[in-house]
Amino acid sequence: MRFQNKTVIITGAGSGIGRATAERLSAEGANLVLVDRDAAALDVTRAGLAAPDRVLVRAHDVSVESEAERTYAEALSRFGYVDGFVNVAGAMIYQPLAELTGNDWARIMTINFFAATYFTHHAFRHMSRGGSLVYVSSIHAHQTSPLVGPYAAAKAALSSLARTASIEGRGRNIRANAILPGAVDTPMLRESPNIKSGLEVLDPLDIGQAEDIAAAIVFALSDDARFVTGSEITVDGGRLAKL
Ligand code: NAD
Repeated sequence: MRFQNKTVIITGAGSGIGRATAERLSAEGANLVLVDRDAAALDVTRAGLAAPDRVLVRAHDVSVESEAERTYAEALSRFGYVDGFVNVAGAMIYQPLAELTGNDWARIMTINFFAATYFTHHAFRHMSRGGSLVYVSSIHAHQTSPLVGPYAAAKAALSSLARTASIEGRGRNIRANAILPGAVDTPMLRESPNIKSGLEVLDPLDIGQAEDIAAAIVFALSDDARFVTGSEITVDGGRLAKL
């Protein structure tokens, strides 16, 4: 019960990695603020938690900065303090550079990266007793494949944000880390056109489960990781290590 009397905001909590993270944190005693644009999916997540009564559900698009402000304010008013923030919501588009418009880049950068900065802003204003920020990046922050340029760039930016937040959080007891999943068996992976078309072929040993990533996220959030900050934690079954 490492998270008793602690409150964590999770974006992308309606599916996959976000839902698995909510399940682990609830089982360890946390109060949760669950964010996703899919309200019905959030209800399913909540119903499956160990303590569904200690949950605030906020259905909104993370791209909308004012909604992030409202979510943070409602979290404070319901639970008094926010100890952790986990940025999980993410989206991909599959298009070559020749076809991507400025709007495409802006949309993907906003969902995957700017949304994290909105919540980080409020965390730095309110985490007077310290806290932990966890950004779900990707191995695409370092190595990537064709057609996913905006996604890969946004994930690299999240790793950079973790470094900046760790530096500005030092001395304030605010830690920040990026988690870099490899391939994870969630709807995002199953619906990937690169996988469906055979452009990207995965060894079954390279595919992890949402719980594998949630385990690393919860570690980074917890006091067990008190000396871990500004880091990228790769959770990919060894995929990036191969020649
Ligand atoms: P998923 O599709 O199962 O879940 C993503 C969730 O984010 C969904 O519930 C969706 O509704 C929500 N979401 C998407 N856009 C949103 C928006 N604008 N506002 C609010 N909510 C929004 O995918 P997942 O695999 O669990 O992905 C979670 C995170 O993990 C993403 O950031 C993704 O980039 C990252 N990741 C996934 C993999 C993988 O192979 N699945 C690998 C590396 C990184």
